[in-house]
Amino acid sequence: MCSPPATRPKEPAGLIKVVCTTGMVADLARQILQGEAEVTVLMGPGMDPHSFTPGPAEMAKLKAADVIVANGLRLEGKLEETFATLQRQGRQIVLLGEKLPRDQVLDADGLYDPHIWGDLSLWSKLAEPFVAEMSVRFPTPALAWRSRGIAYQKQLLKVHSHMKQLVDRNLEKPQRVLVTSHDAFRYFGRAYGLEVKAAQGISTATEAGLKDVVELAKLVKDRGLKAVFVESSVSPAVIQRLSKDTGAKVGGELFSDALGAAEDKVTLDETTELGCDTVAGMQLRNMQTIIRALKN
Ligand SMILES: [Zn+2]
Repeated sequence: MCSPPATRPKEPAGLIKVVCTTGMVADLARQILQGEAEVTVLMGPGMDPHSFTPGPAEMAKLKAADVIVANGLRLEGKLEETFATLQRQGRQIVLLGEKLPRDQVLDADGLYDPHIWGDLSLWSKLAEPFVAEMSVRFPTPALAWRSRGIAYQKQLLKVHSHMKQLVDRNLEKPQRVLVTSHDAFRYFGRAYGLEVKAAQGISTATEAGLKDVVELAKLVKDRGLKAVFVESSVSPAVIQRLSKDTGAKVGGELFSDALGAAEDKVTLDETTELGCDTVAGMQLRNMQTIIRALKN
């Protein structure tokens, strides 16, 4: 007969395994949990969360996680069933978007618009509830998490007001129109005073109709817009055609639903450089791209 070992094998004093869906979510988790957690991300640069379907490798990652952190608000449309199954199996899943006050979440044809990282002030509001939820399950590092959460929030708010100033100083009111391929910038537009028009809806799952493109072309011409923008995680075809039809240039590539690279640095002030692999860095880069292209 087998007898149990005299001493139980020690629990690995290892890191908390945190699996995040998008890079934006991983940025928040990394900056707050830092040394106490191993944060991995399912979707890398250029990947579209609306259409992301987990393969066997991603499923294995999700199953091995201590905590799964997702954007929620139906951004990860194809992962919803997987989340439900994992939750039934007792896995902890944090849906960040669900933590926001509902009156600050934009409505999109009866659904919630999930692109909440477009407004840095709104995104900064996730730090506190995230820390609170993590601290219930892992109480020991909670104090460190709280202070890092506050630092993360402060940084975002600093970049947020810098971006508002950039718009005020550089763009005349009629120039403040952002034309993109899918409707990922409504929070961004609301926060920074830009009117936003897109060929596709808030999900990339629906294609741009001919009528939408014709209407957009008319708007670009009527307003005399100098530029339209492609997105890093969406096919550029529609915007390229719009550019050809209207004579407005392609003003550059914006990070909509995925972060950029760490090596791609953007300058905030004399002392601060941000990587485009952070939410603050991606949005500051977006703002600089937009202003450079639309400015007279
Ligand atoms: Zn999107």
